[in-house]
Amino acid sequence: MALTLHVDGAKWRAAQDAALAANPGLVPVIKGNGYGFGPATLYAEASRLRVPMVAVGTYAEVPGALAGFPGDVLVMEPFRAAIHAGLPQVGEGRLVHTITARVDLDALLVANAAARVVVEGLTSMGRFGAPVEKVGDLMAAGHGEGVTLHLPLGSGHIDEISRFVEAVGGIRPFFVSHTTSDEVAALRHRFPEHRFAARVGTDLWLADRSAYEVRAHVLDVRPLSKGDRVGYRQRPQPAGHLVVVSGGTSHGVAMESPASAATARSRAIAVAEGMLEAAHRVRSPFTVSGTMPRFAEPPHMQCSLLTLPAGVTPPLVGDIVPVRMRLTTAYPDAVVIE
Ligand SMILES: *Cc1c(COP(=O)(O)O)cnc(C)c1O
Repeated sequence: MALTLHVDGAKWRAAQDAALAANPGLVPVIKGNGYGFGPATLYAEASRLRVPMVAVGTYAEVPGALAGFPGDVLVMEPFRAAIHAGLPQVGEGRLVHTITARVDLDALLVANAAARVVVEGLTSMGRFGAPVEKVGDLMAAGHGEGVTLHLPLGSGHIDEISRFVEAVGGIRPFFVSHTTSDEVAALRHRFPEHRFAARVGTDLWLADRSAYEVRAHVLDVRPLSKGDRVGYRQRPQPAGHLVVVSGGTSHGVAMESPASAATARSRAIAVAEGMLEAAHRVRSPFTVSGTMPRFAEPPHMQCSLLTLPAGVTPPLVGDIVPVRMRLTTAYPDAVVIE
């Protein structure tokens, strides 16, 4: 039994190439579950794209990135003296650390006098960063290679980024996150002497939804009479067919927001009861016989029980069915690039 991510390699790579062409200087973000493809696959794709740098989320991801990608690796979580000073990779010359405070910079330079850094400015995102008036001093003290800015989702970033560009002065790259290619183009126009590089994950790896599909196997099919009870919770079922498919909580099935619930009421129930508990009331993400049947009960760890209504022709054991899933929470058993 398996949940597989199928990728049309030519289409997927064409979308990556287009994203890079639309946004020169783009720094691919490779973090977490590797956007469903897995980090190792994405390091190989970034190598194919011939970019000089990738960005990872955390220090835990650094060893994999250094092994899988030959260029520079930017760590987007800030270096913290209290947490990271003893890490064996701190001396690695291909690493670029993110600095938000003097105490961390000083400790990093003690651990590795040649450490490479960028300085993150505190934006309206409010996650990490040094206040705008401290960024210039940190850049000077750490011989910073650039300033990083992480913006909230949405638009209207140009004024906020401009404040940093004007306050920091000098000619240095700004690495910006969640800034559209149009906004980056506008910034380049406003500050032609500066370099702007967008850090992009979703719009690079998941740019063309038609280039990939999650697929599950039909593992079993059984007729149901009204009131038959199945599953861990022995809930009575409607008449029709029980369809057992591969794909469960360990793959991230039903871990996404309940946006796929059909109605506002079922979405409200999903929020109120917790997504898993509510899963049996909402449509499953599996497409079986042209419909999206409901879960018979919350998904199991590696498979799910679905109820196909009476009158719908059941599938056969071994059939392959598509699964609609958000890939940032998907952990397929295999990724097949054809
Ligand atoms: C995750 C992340 C990104 C990439 O986000 P996407 O929405 O996947 O493009 C960029 N910058 C920072 C700081 C991040 O944490």
